[in-house]
Amino acid sequence: MKNISKEDYLSEIYKNSDENGQVKANLIAEKLQVSNAAVTDMLKKLKREGQIKYEPYRGVELTSKGKEYAKNMVRRHRIWEVFLHQIVGLPWDKVHDEAHHLEHSGSDELINKMEEMLNFPQFDPHGDPIPSKLGIVPEQKHNVALSNLKQNQKGVVIRVNDFDNNFLIYISQIGIKLKKEIKVCEVLNFDKSILVEIDGKKNNLSRTIAENIFVEIKK
Ligand SMILES: [Zn+2]
Repeated sequence: MKNISKEDYLSEIYKNSDENGQVKANLIAEKLQVSNAAVTDMLKKLKREGQIKYEPYRGVELTSKGKEYAKNMVRRHRIWEVFLHQIVGLPWDKVHDEAHHLEHSGSDELINKMEEMLNFPQFDPHGDPIPSKLGIVPEQKHNVALSNLKQNQKGVVIRVNDFDNNFLIYISQIGIKLKKEIKVCEVLNFDKSILVEIDGKKNNLSRTIAENIFVEIKK
């Protein structure tokens, strides 16, 4: 049985909330890979503490107290990721797990100092926005999944989902990183995989891969 902290739940609710600030309990279970029963228990606890609004069978919503807390956890996590990537030199597939342990340690003052030392980065090594000290979240405009591009369209990578380290390792092996240009040569109708060109080399990307890479379309 995995031991998932309260902080992890709050961060996950924050990251997966829709435009109305709602998230379904079963999505949280799926993301954290725990049972629905475990999620229900934790949600009741978080509700008692005033961190979330929650009724069984309905969406979960962070209260302003819960949101502030979650945002700060996400901030700490992403600043650690930038530090580990830029200063320590860890590849982007290693920073998430390390940052996951480190986000719970160090005072807010230390995190603020690290942010300053890193020259106030707005995005982490996967392109996810870093909330500022005041809770302002940098906006990422024109963010489209690669799977939505049509034949002959080009995009520049601005974010990748960090849900799986092997996914990150694989896409780096074929040359995909932030700011890299990708051209869609062909969309294969039978399985919706796409043939892309990166640095003059062609590769076939599965639908799942293309759905987890986000680009800004080049005009
Ligand atoms: Zn990240």
